[in-house]
Amino acid sequence: MSSLDDKLYEKSVECPVCGNQFKVLAVKRKAYIVESRDTDFCVTYKDINPLFYDVWICQLCGYAAQKSTFSKITYKRSELIKKHITPRWVAKESPSVIESEAAVNRYKLALINAQISKAKSSEVAGICLKIAWLYRFMGKEEDELHFLKHSLDKYLEAFSSERFPLENMDEATVMYLIAELHRRVGNLEESARWLNKVISLKGIPDRISKLAREQWQSLRETLKEEKAANMI
Ligand SMILES: [Zn+2]
Repeated sequence: MSSLDDKLYEKSVECPVCGNQFKVLAVKRKAYIVESRDTDFCVTYKDINPLFYDVWICQLCGYAAQKSTFSKITYKRSELIKKHITPRWVAKESPSVIESEAAVNRYKLALINAQISKAKSSEVAGICLKIAWLYRFMGKEEDELHFLKHSLDKYLEAFSSERFPLENMDEATVMYLIAELHRRVGNLEESARWLNKVISLKGIPDRISKLAREQWQSLRETLKEEKAANMI
């Protein structure tokens, strides 16, 4: 495969921590072809996976974050990066194509950056969710579950302490996602409780209302079956 095929292009960005100008790989719009969507908003794309290209890393200072938050780092947080990440940072060669294993490592670097610089819980939650999805693509269920749990904890923290929207998600969407993460990690009663809350909200987006009702239906069936099985 050539280093830059017809689905990728390079673009220049500036590191908000150290001022370094560097190039990142980006996926061309036309290459975003959706194959399927999971109930926790994970999208599978045909061919190239844009998620692999979502973390930007400054090779000079070691700052790494998702592209959606990369330039939004506060002064206080960038000082923490300079103090705790940069002295230990060893530059690596930037790849010309990113594969799943490398994508996990890039997200884990973003996670370390977010934790050390005390990013908001919602940002940490979002990174953990993406790592869980990457493990799902790789078929590594245990690792997926580990990061889904981590993401859930952080979304619960964010829900009770941050203002909405959380990274573009309104309150109903976050509540639905919390319900869905509870379901996926096996907390069915908790999931039902959160779905009930979502369904009783007024004026929520149609897509979320539909998803919540569908999940509530199937969850109710599962809970009924479980109860019946326990009675035998
Ligand atoms: Zn930098």
